[in-house]
Amino acid sequence: MTKWKTAELIESHDLSPSVKSLRFKVSDWEPHIAGQHYMVRVESPEGYIAERYYSLSNSPLEEGIIELGVQLLPDGEVSTFLHTLPLGGKIKLRGPFGTHFSWVPEDKNSIILIAGGSGLIPFMSMIRLNHEQLRNEQSVPMKIIGSFRTKKDILYYDELLAITKMNPNISFTLTLTQEKSHGWTGRVGRIDAQYLQRELSTERNSDSHFYVSGSTRFVEAMKKQLESIGITNERMKEEQFG
Ligand SMILES: Cc1cc2nc3c(=O)[nH]c(=O)nc-3n(C[C@H](O)[C@H](O)[C@H](O)COP(=O)(O)OP(=O)(O)OC[C@H]3O[C@@H](n4cnc5c(N)ncnc54)[C@H](O)[C@@H]3O)c2cc1C
Repeated sequence: MTKWKTAELIESHDLSPSVKSLRFKVSDWEPHIAGQHYMVRVESPEGYIAERYYSLSNSPLEEGIIELGVQLLPDGEVSTFLHTLPLGGKIKLRGPFGTHFSWVPEDKNSIILIAGGSGLIPFMSMIRLNHEQLRNEQSVPMKIIGSFRTKKDILYYDELLAITKMNPNISFTLTLTQEKSHGWTGRVGRIDAQYLQRELSTERNSDSHFYVSGSTRFVEAMKKQLESIGITNERMKEEQFG
């Protein structure tokens, strides 16, 4: 059981109208594996305690820092606390946890990351780490398929554009589920079997590994769609945010 650590908020910025990126300095930092999460504890002066899990979005190669992406939920206890935490504010956390939903550079299979909204957060740790492997020419083929509601909700867009421009091994494709977005010339609509079949024509019959992350509803829907195009459960790893 890992012990509680204290982390100080050193940087915060909006990734979208409802998601903030929060960077903390952790004194007794320990390395994480890309895809892992921490448990954050919030305690009121009256002694009421709430604990929630949050995935790490930064590369494991960044020492002493943990970065979270937090989606604000209406009346959500911990997400509201984290969204209103001032710079210099401290939180208690424990981790890192979770070894199943993780990726290490030694895994040389190509990987497909399918994200619904904030499900992209743990993938950023994998994407950033894989991009860093370009230095030693060890970066593996990685394809990201992301689904967001509107253009404003797309997370890490500029960074993904920059990475995919520099790194020929990493590519991404996005779809928006609400057509209202002005100036969006990309795909609109939910991820369905037809779309997956087209996007994954090469990877479907290779030894690629598939990762799916997002709300329970999104993950369950994606697993069904992947199964329908012949991807077996053994090739999939999933993270459900609830
Ligand atoms: C492994 C894992 C990793 C995760 N990673 C992330 C991550 O990277 N980023 C992220 O943002 N989230 C992540 N989550 C989700 C996160 O742990 C929290 O569940 C989320 O932030 C909501 O917590 P909260 O305290 O803000 O909301 P809660 O207080 O738990 O409320 C959740 C929702 O339920 C509603 N609600 C609460 N009580 C009631 C009630 N009595 N009646 C009706 N409605 C109610 C609230 O209004 C709110 O909309 C992860 C979850 C898991 C399991």
